[in-house]
Amino acid sequence: MFGESFRLFRVLGFEVRANVSWLFLALLITWSLAAALFPFAFPGLAPSTYWLMGLVGMLGLFFSLLFHELSHSLVARAYGLPVGGITLFLFGGMAELQAEPKRPGEEFWMAIAGPIASVILAGVFYLAAVVMMALGVPQHIAGVAGYLGFINLLLAVFNMVPGFPMDGGRVFRAALWRWSGDMRRATLWASRLGQGFGLLLVALGIYSFLSGNFIGGMWWFLIGLFIRGAAIASYQHLVTQLALKGQTVRRFMTTDPVTVPSDTTLQDFVDRYLYHHAFDIFPVVRDGRLLGYTSLRQVQTVPRDTWARTRVGDTCRKFGEAHTVDADADANEALEQMQRSESSRLVVTEGDRVVGMLVLKDLLRFLQIRAELEQG
Ligand SMILES: [Zn+2]
Repeated sequence: MFGESFRLFRVLGFEVRANVSWLFLALLITWSLAAALFPFAFPGLAPSTYWLMGLVGMLGLFFSLLFHELSHSLVARAYGLPVGGITLFLFGGMAELQAEPKRPGEEFWMAIAGPIASVILAGVFYLAAVVMMALGVPQHIAGVAGYLGFINLLLAVFNMVPGFPMDGGRVFRAALWRWSGDMRRATLWASRLGQGFGLLLVALGIYSFLSGNFIGGMWWFLIGLFIRGAAIASYQHLVTQLALKGQTVRRFMTTDPVTVPSDTTLQDFVDRYLYHHAFDIFPVVRDGRLLGYTSLRQVQTVPRDTWARTRVGDTCRKFGEAHTVDADADANEALEQMQRSESSRLVVTEGDRVVGMLVLKDLLRFLQIRAELEQG
């Protein structure tokens, strides 16, 4: 999402990444603090002082977001749920949970940990501001601490809005789940609330924009769109996971895949395979064992006048991990592998033998039928 992320550091065993969009947020925050908020709150200081305050405020926000996400991640880890890491991006932070919680209680504590952490941090910053004031520290330094106290309170309140996948939405889902015992329906309702809240923000954004608050309006509009999209996506993700749960790749693969014997000449490959099948890549086999793959691009690297005497086996390339999957692998993991590697076909193997082909279209068709059956 939003393109490239880069690694920053590891803390408590979690990898912290920042998305390129976070840089935009960092600049925007620094600028709006230094050019607008602080000059308004503490008039009469030098511009360089305002920029320094803006920078400290931005770093404080970074720390606050990280603290919030770390608390989610620590609780998740305590319940044995794998966390992929923490990514900061345009709209804040995200702890990447790699599995859904198994019980409503786990979900509740994992979700509420973030807002609790933010409230605690808000208290610490406010207290620091009050103590600094009492000690006679210049007003504008105490003021930055006061601002961070306010920001953390805002983070806690905003995240507690009951729309999935925000923290409040997760708490709401945990409650519904506990009450109904049905995780899918609980997620559906929490997701609908999230979509509704997203649309409300979009409407507020448009209203704001039309009333002359261009930047604020745009901001709410974008956050609303993002929340709505995330709410839809997280429900769909769950439905997919539930549908494929416990299924292996074997169930969805097409057996008898088109494979190219390694002693085929490139000319034969072009005539008999490339022209007849609309595949991007073709597995190459020798005695049933997977040797690698070949493709149109691969053929193009070989001079045309040698096609009749060059064997496919001599020019094929090795498959990377991303393009093969074991027949007994979990179907959910195979789907995620396809999404990560952006490939719509995986070669299914059993040891070093090719036994089938997993095609994204077949998986999606299964999910589609399953979803329609469940609606009725
Ligand atoms: Zn949170």
